[in-house]
Amino acid sequence: MSAPLLEAVGLSAGYGQSNVLRDIDLTVGAGEAVVVLGANGAGKTTLMRAISGLIPHTGEIRVDGKVVTKVRPDAMLRLGISQIPQGRGTLTDMTVRDNLRVGAVSRKPGPDVAEDIDQWCTVFPPLGKRRDQIAGTLSGGEQQMLAVARAMMSRPRLLLCDEVSLGLAPLIVQGLFEVLARVNAERGTAVLLVEQNAELALDIASRVYLLEVGSVASSGPTEEFRSNDAIRRAYLGY
Ligand code: ATP
Repeated sequence: MSAPLLEAVGLSAGYGQSNVLRDIDLTVGAGEAVVVLGANGAGKTTLMRAISGLIPHTGEIRVDGKVVTKVRPDAMLRLGISQIPQGRGTLTDMTVRDNLRVGAVSRKPGPDVAEDIDQWCTVFPPLGKRRDQIAGTLSGGEQQMLAVARAMMSRPRLLLCDEVSLGLAPLIVQGLFEVLARVNAERGTAVLLVEQNAELALDIASRVYLLEVGSVASSGPTEEFRSNDAIRRAYLGY
């Protein structure tokens, strides 16, 4: 059996003296959609930061079964792992088009970059209308569309999504999740989502990790989570 695309083994991380994550084991297989749920402050964003190399960790991060010795955003991108950070991370003083070009820096330059820009401007028509607009002047929803499109411009094998829904209107969030579901189903891009909006995330994901105070409290197939009364009440509110 081939190794999972991404593995975190005994992963711990935090900020200075404060250890937030303790001994996390997590896997994402090729083409899989996995969601990490947890209350405010459980450590979801910290987990994403550790996996993408924005903060240091102890333990191992493996890609295709090999330990990544220098976990940094550029190195992870070269391994096919692209991140949509919380707060979107768009380059606010650059145009939509240039943000998308920057998203493709890990690729060889060529006409297919412009073709992908056109494609993402079709997937997200508001971006198509605003290719030459400065990203900082986009609405919150448009900026999140740009963040998704920019992360996809590297043609990743795995997309890390940190709270895509944060602060956005329900209709915009629904549209973004539909795009993420299509990215997963049609392109076979694996997705690791960290989400407060459990209902939408569970619609996409086939597997769930529950994070409680920096540790994995439980994990398993989405259907098991939906049928567990205590978990459903705590995370889905019914
Ligand atoms: P939320 O759903 O509210 O975004 P979260 O599960 O993503 O929460 P994190 O943002 O990972 O949680 O935060 C986990 C803990 O780490 C919190 O106690 C938070 O205060 C702390 N923390 C986060 N960022 C920093 C930082 N830069 N410096 C110090 N502590 C931090």
